[in-house]
Amino acid sequence: MTEYLVKNGFVFDPVTGLKGDKADVAIKNGKIVETSELSKKHKTVDAHGKTVMAGALEVHAHVAGPKVNEGRNFRPEDKLQTPYMKGKGIQRMAGGWSIPTTYKTGYTYAKMGYTTVMEAAMPPLYARHVHEEMRDTPIIDEGAFPVFGNNWFVMEYLKNHEIENTAAYISWLLRATKGFAVKIVNPGGTEAWGWGLNCLQVKDPVPYFDITPEEIIKGLIEANEYLGLPHSIHIHGNNLGNPGNYTTTLDTLKLAQGYKPKGKFGRDQVMHHTHIQFHSYGGDKWANFESKAREVADYVNKHKNITIDVGFVTLDETTTMTADGPFEHHLCELNHLKWANVDVELETAAGVVPYVYSPDIFVCGVQWAIGLELALLSKDPMRCYITTDHPNAGPFSRYPRIWKWLMSAKAREEQIKAFKNSDKVTSQSELAGIDRELSLYEIAAMTRAGPAKALGLSHMYGGLKPGLDADVAIYNFNPEKDDAGKMIEDAITNAYYVFKTGVPVVVDGEIASHGNKRTLWVDAKVKENPQVIRDIHDKFIKYYTVNEGNYEVVGHHYVPNPFAIEVEASH
Ligand SMILES: [Zn+2]
Repeated sequence: MTEYLVKNGFVFDPVTGLKGDKADVAIKNGKIVETSELSKKHKTVDAHGKTVMAGALEVHAHVAGPKVNEGRNFRPEDKLQTPYMKGKGIQRMAGGWSIPTTYKTGYTYAKMGYTTVMEAAMPPLYARHVHEEMRDTPIIDEGAFPVFGNNWFVMEYLKNHEIENTAAYISWLLRATKGFAVKIVNPGGTEAWGWGLNCLQVKDPVPYFDITPEEIIKGLIEANEYLGLPHSIHIHGNNLGNPGNYTTTLDTLKLAQGYKPKGKFGRDQVMHHTHIQFHSYGGDKWANFESKAREVADYVNKHKNITIDVGFVTLDETTTMTADGPFEHHLCELNHLKWANVDVELETAAGVVPYVYSPDIFVCGVQWAIGLELALLSKDPMRCYITTDHPNAGPFSRYPRIWKWLMSAKAREEQIKAFKNSDKVTSQSELAGIDRELSLYEIAAMTRAGPAKALGLSHMYGGLKPGLDADVAIYNFNPEKDDAGKMIEDAITNAYYVFKTGVPVVVDGEIASHGNKRTLWVDAKVKENPQVIRDIHDKFIKYYTVNEGNYEVVGHHYVPNPFAIEVEASH
């Protein structure tokens, strides 16, 4: 493999503590190495006057599987927003805006310097489809989170607080689906939706199962830590998207109290709360809708065993999609656009509804402000990550614009002025009064070092320390001269150079290689549990419409380049 020396860039890397220092980064055999380890044959990439960071990690996006594909089928008009185009070099045809094709997904992430992406909600029964799409997505390493929060096995075990059985089931399901982490979506509420109901509060009962969201969440934290998985539970809480829901969010976050992370992966959190922007709303109706970002950020700041990602609203037309089935029905009643709903037997459900975050609607402006407030009020960028819950709050391709808003108070001010109801956006949020501008070092923590740590992958990704994977992004942005408000968006949209495990995949803003993408999954070993094996067998015979043999994700076809993270439950 070719060796490279990335020379003389301004390096931002929380892992090694470089805060824009001029430094060299050496790459050999797919890893970061000391510069002294390079042979004379190495190639040099001149990064003079440019920004250098590790490859970025996506902690939460919907980029593969039946729900995403349903969105593509259901919204052919989405493709009209961007032309199909063939790039220079080796790039294949790619299209779509909020629900891009698999190729466009890989290309767009890579061009922004992203090298690892987590698909945030894999319905276990359709894991094969998720893997087929991930396999088809070039360049980026990917993993997927199977959903557990409305799963019949989980609810039956946790009703009796059977943590060991829950852990054994998680271990089985992660292996069966080649999944990476425990995802929870509207715990209990999606199952209740099967009865036309919902769980809006953590103490609301789930019909038939005689359990509450609180018991599901705490039980899954305990099972997750019993196993010592790389990532913590990853939760989309109850009551998403409703005025006044911040109290539900605080109730949910409080469930992490008293728990400590276990296992060898070095994360500090026991709960990752995702797209918390959608969960930080005040008021009791849309007319008096307001931000409660400060209340939520204050709580997160004080509790180190919680991490969050934001779910920034980007003010675009997009496609919402979530396993929160009842929410999508509610949303379609609000906006009167089309609605798709899918049930996944025994496990979960999903809905899809188009959405326009219009700058002319005051609620959308306040949602935009709440996202930025959450990030700007967060004291620890290692625990707060940049997402749009793609495509729910906007397409991930808008990340560079979010950098601009976070780095430039002037850029935020210009957007506030552009709102039709700028007075109301200002009165219902405190964004206009916040002058903090994030540094590239802080943004590197929010997009690299922080997510790598929270995912339990800091031994592979997120930094430029020798021994880590050589995932490196170089951007045409001179932090000493260039104005972030004017130039950062273009610089991040089309990186100058991106390496994925030591291979240049983007060169001068163009795709240079399809890379050698891997699928990350977690192989968690527990001691044999005959009861759980019997329960699984019984449920397949009694209820599932497929048999066990047709359920598991096995073989080269689905996961051609697997990367298993081994976990041994230490009990
Ligand atoms: Zn999501």
